[in-house]
Amino acid sequence: MKKFMVILVTIAMLLTMSACGKKYENPIAQSSETLYVRKLDLPEGFIKGVDISSVISLENSGVRFYGWDGNECDIFQTLAESGVNYIRVRVWNNPFDENGNGFGGGNNDINTAVEIGKRATKYGMKLLVDFHYSDFWADPGKQMVPTSWKDMEIEEKAEALYQFTKESLELLKKEKVDVGMVQIGNETNGAMCGETIWAKILKLMISGSKAVREVFPKAKVAVHFANPESGSYETYASKLAYYALDYDVFASSYYPYWHGTLDNLKKELDNITDKYDKEVMVIETSYAYRGDDTDFFGNTISDESAVVKNYPYSVQGQANSIIDVMDTVSQMKKGIGVCYWEPAWITVGQNSYDENKALWEKYGSGWASSYAKVYDKNDAGRYFGGSAVDNQALFDEKGYPLESLKVFNLVDTGNIVELTVEAVEDTYLSCDLNEKVVLPEKVYAIMSDNSRQEVSVKWEDINEEELRSNGVKKYTIHGEANGKQAVLYLSMIKFNFLDNPYFDTGDMGKWKVIDNGKADELYIEKKSTDSLSGEYHFHFCSAMANSVNFDLEQDVENLKDGTYCFEISIMGGDAGNTNIYAYVKVNGETVATGNTTITSYNEWHKATVNDVNVKAGDKVTCGIHVECSGANKGAWGKIDDALFNYQD
Ligand code: CA
Repeated sequence: MKKFMVILVTIAMLLTMSACGKKYENPIAQSSETLYVRKLDLPEGFIKGVDISSVISLENSGVRFYGWDGNECDIFQTLAESGVNYIRVRVWNNPFDENGNGFGGGNNDINTAVEIGKRATKYGMKLLVDFHYSDFWADPGKQMVPTSWKDMEIEEKAEALYQFTKESLELLKKEKVDVGMVQIGNETNGAMCGETIWAKILKLMISGSKAVREVFPKAKVAVHFANPESGSYETYASKLAYYALDYDVFASSYYPYWHGTLDNLKKELDNITDKYDKEVMVIETSYAYRGDDTDFFGNTISDESAVVKNYPYSVQGQANSIIDVMDTVSQMKKGIGVCYWEPAWITVGQNSYDENKALWEKYGSGWASSYAKVYDKNDAGRYFGGSAVDNQALFDEKGYPLESLKVFNLVDTGNIVELTVEAVEDTYLSCDLNEKVVLPEKVYAIMSDNSRQEVSVKWEDINEEELRSNGVKKYTIHGEANGKQAVLYLSMIKFNFLDNPYFDTGDMGKWKVIDNGKADELYIEKKSTDSLSGEYHFHFCSAMANSVNFDLEQDVENLKDGTYCFEISIMGGDAGNTNIYAYVKVNGETVATGNTTITSYNEWHKATVNDVNVKAGDKVTCGIHVECSGANKGAWGKIDDALFNYQD
């Protein structure tokens, strides 16, 4: 039995060796023919990093990763073969409760970082150490102090931070890990380690930097901020300079979904280089290759549209996002690299939430476990669960690398293939119930090089009769363009060709008043209880008999040939004899009218004008004539809800 086992193990090892042990001569040579990659002119030594901090907890949970030949392979080898030259790892001070249960998110203490660092070094990649100086996640929303430091005054805390940094780095040094860069804090937008006063934050940062210089004098010291779109980077950098922090790299997160444009990112980081002569980089970025979730725990981005923020949710779209970020950083004055965040944080299982949850809890392979509540009860303690970025990974849900992982190599050579339609943008169309429904023959598509083009589309058959007879309603119509799904959102509506038909802008807009009787009050009034709809209506009132005598009208142009109708509503009182009617003029001639009257408060009457024949180019005027004798004490009233539309 024992011998049999040994044979099995030997066969397994041989198989593994053949799959994993061989070093590819030229990984690019076996790149796919499908991924479109434009060649980038990257500076020598450009950092192509990935943060795979969660990877050991995933492996412990049973996740297997595969290489380009389809066989199981150390993910560090696959990454190195794919052009990755830097591994980033987060370090939390003590992400465990008093019983040793991990808080999750990879349970990344320094011991885990050492393990990850050793494997990175084995495959020739440098390590970027990301100290959060917290027991769990630090980001712009929270910068909690480690529990064991929480009662310390700033001097004592700075000393503790120095010692922690130094001892942690010495562990890495002892294991011969090739540390290339060390981050002092993570997304420290005005806070770090429980401190929110710059003088104190800087005292801590200076202690951290000092420790890095002592242990790894050749490593770069980085600071890390988020939200380039906020315009705050110069303020941050000025604080670092004022307190004379010794650092090399001003690093930024850049998630295209949230962090503004690439142009803005370049402007913000170039400004830091101009003013403070610092190197800059994007130290976190990612994008989704699919919209849906694979681990029964919702993701940070998950739209259903095919194209979101310019990039399709596809493997090529994801690759294009990475290429664009690398391209932008490489064009910065001192841009040194890009790091992709958690490309391996995939699902720990395919079966159920409960099965996955058991693994997240046991191995810390979800973003947070329930044990984190002792430290962070309001966020992690409430919303703990799995991976929120499995649809942004560079490996599929089974652990096979996606083509998009190849960009790290392919940007050096380019991989120009025939352009294909990557995704079709959603189309929106409003159509009047009385008009013919004409679906567009072309739609906009995002091509594999991320350019935008019009392409022909074939829609499913529609039943016009039915669309019109169902009245005002919305429809989703599917189609196909170059083999990709197209979606049209059709709204069947009743047009209203009038400007400001409900007076809801609060001003007259195109409405005009022709006052023949010198009424006391003729204006737009804001009073929802006196309006037929909304908050505003047109108000009239006059104390003197026969002084209410006006026309309220507006011109309508650019109409198509057709038969139209007009309606408008009125209420009021104390009117005496009335002569009130709606009218429509075509080219100055009244062609039709519809009578109505006013009676008492809140009794609305609608005046309707039908059968208005219009030819294209005609000038049409819609209005209401209001004339009241006033029964010796004047009249008052309200006008609202006008509509000029095709006649049914
Ligand atoms: Ca998920």
